Amino acid sequence: MKKERNMWLDGIMGLAVGDALGVPAKFSSRDWLTEIPVNDMCGYGTHPVPKGTWSDDTSMTWAALDSLREGYAPNLMADKFCEWFFAGKYTPHGRVFDYGNATKDALVRYRSTQNPLDCGMKDEKSNGNGALMRILPVCLYCYSLEKNEKLAAEDSIDIIFEATAITHAHLRSKLASALYYFVCCAVLEEDDMKTAVADGLKKGFEFFDKTPEYAEELKNYDRLRDIENFADLPHEQIQSTGYVVHSLEAALWCLLNTNNYADSVLEAVNLGGDTDTIAAIAGGLAGLFYGYDSIPKEWLGVLARCKELEAACTDPTKAEEHSYEYISIMPKRRLRNYTKIKLFLETLLEKETDINTKTLINYMLQKNERSYKEYLEMLEDE
Ligand SMILES: [Mg+2]
Repeated sequence: MKKERNMWLDGIMGLAVGDALGVPAKFSSRDWLTEIPVNDMCGYGTHPVPKGTWSDDTSMTWAALDSLREGYAPNLMADKFCEWFFAGKYTPHGRVFDYGNATKDALVRYRSTQNPLDCGMKDEKSNGNGALMRILPVCLYCYSLEKNEKLAAEDSIDIIFEATAITHAHLRSKLASALYYFVCCAVLEEDDMKTAVADGLKKGFEFFDKTPEYAEELKNYDRLRDIENFADLPHEQIQSTGYVVHSLEAALWCLLNTNNYADSVLEAVNLGGDTDTIAAIAGGLAGLFYGYDSIPKEWLGVLARCKELEAACTDPTKAEEHSYEYISIMPKRRLRNYTKIKLFLETLLEKETDINTKTLINYMLQKNERSYKEYLEMLEDE
């Protein structure tokens, strides 16, 4: 990680400023923005909101970050999203606006079922950028735990997939978030933006290419496999819609074709279309790379609730209430760590009331490690 910097502040403020720059120009055409480009914070335009107002992207990012203070667990995160959506918490001026349908439908569903693992939209049409735009805190969280050897790469991907799926459960959306995660990690390590994007994506593709079931979906991201070529694509070949593949491509293209924070986010806004979200996605990475100090002070000066948001940008793993409880019982960790398997079975035993299951779990607990593995493989086969 880059020395002496607070990656939470760098990334999240970078995202929020990009979001706020894009809000007034949302849905504007590229032709229009070529004539009259956005080059500063402004108010009104698409939404009736004053200068410096950020939108759902920052609200959900803040909510996700806040949930991580208790540790990662999908229900904690979904609860925070509901506090935003149904009660207006984490909003710039108390009003919820600019959210997507998949997010709305998922949170309405979660409110009635309370099941965060089965409320996200699974259909192919629900592949908007609504999860990608708010995944940054989860990426930083996993990066930080991997650095401290509390998490393996596979676990990080499980977490990124699961957190994405709270609202966007289609594999395409999950892959977008995970590719973004790999880029985040590389951006935090590398000194050159182009190398970082190329290395991050290379690692991501290498990771996912090992799973044949992902091959078909991964084809949607094929243009990102050759970064030299992709970076040189002309403007006209970059689409800036809210479709998750377009948004990820557009954000990365902006980072590859600029060399400072301000230009990265302005380039993203001036592509037109889903301006706030593409600038938020690009802005998060640009903030991580160039640092908080590179964000123009005059933009931060008008950003809604700037001081509160900045104060919230702290490492959630250092929070007093932080716990690893949920992570410790995630399926892949169970397969790798037999102590954890034992703990998991004991936890199940405490909760499980069915006598046959109790007998089976007790039997398992008496067996050696090899049997645990067999048992879990048996479960996986089912
Ligand atoms: Mg928005």
